[in-house]
Amino acid sequence: MRKYVIMGPQGSGKGTQAKRLRDDYDLVHISVGDIFRWNVQSHTKLGARIRRYVDAGELVPDDVVGEIVLDRLNQHDWNFGFVLDGFPRSERQALFFLETFDIDAVIEIQLPAATATERVLGRRLCGRCGLDYNLIYHRPARPEVCDVCGGALETRSDDSPQAIAARLHAYHAQAAPILELFRRKELVVTVDGGCAPDEVYRQICQKLGLVR
Ligand code: AMP
Repeated sequence: MRKYVIMGPQGSGKGTQAKRLRDDYDLVHISVGDIFRWNVQSHTKLGARIRRYVDAGELVPDDVVGEIVLDRLNQHDWNFGFVLDGFPRSERQALFFLETFDIDAVIEIQLPAATATERVLGRRLCGRCGLDYNLIYHRPARPEVCDVCGGALETRSDDSPQAIAARLHAYHAQAAPILELFRRKELVVTVDGGCAPDEVYRQICQKLGLVR
């Protein structure tokens, strides 16, 4: 059983690395941001409660987030473990989490703010099939059109420069005390997110002692 939390600023490649761990070690990837976006897009009751926070790049209140994460983990569909992405994001969430779950490690992906901003502004998502693009690393053959299904590419509603600056600022302000808390418990492994994805993954596996 492997229970990991992955942390890093927006654009650090958290999602990419979490998916690799999921595929190679049969872990369940739980992205709180994805759960929230799905609810907003699907016009659920929860979506209505959280839409304004998500659109503004502000944190959703702790009680709502705690409830959603617990519900998700209580499904117990994670026989081999999970990678939690996007939680905890406040000290309160971290304390609650440490009381509720034994985790094995916190993966911290470091990335300078300028690189993070550049990467996030280049993100595109196919509105039809959901495939991810990045105008820096993974360009579509035709501008703003999905290579696979021909759907129109969209930016996330919260990927405006103002919202990104707010999210990066919030990330660093909030991550510092959380990482400190986890560091005291000797749970944190740190990798350099400025490297290519394969290299970042190699560092993660090495530091977690994962044999491939
Ligand atoms: P992300 O995809 O991780 O950047 O998350 C997108 C948005 O979802 C954030 O800007 C917040 O509005 C919300 N969100 C995601 N995770 C959390 C969390 N742990 N606590 C509060 N809000 C969150």
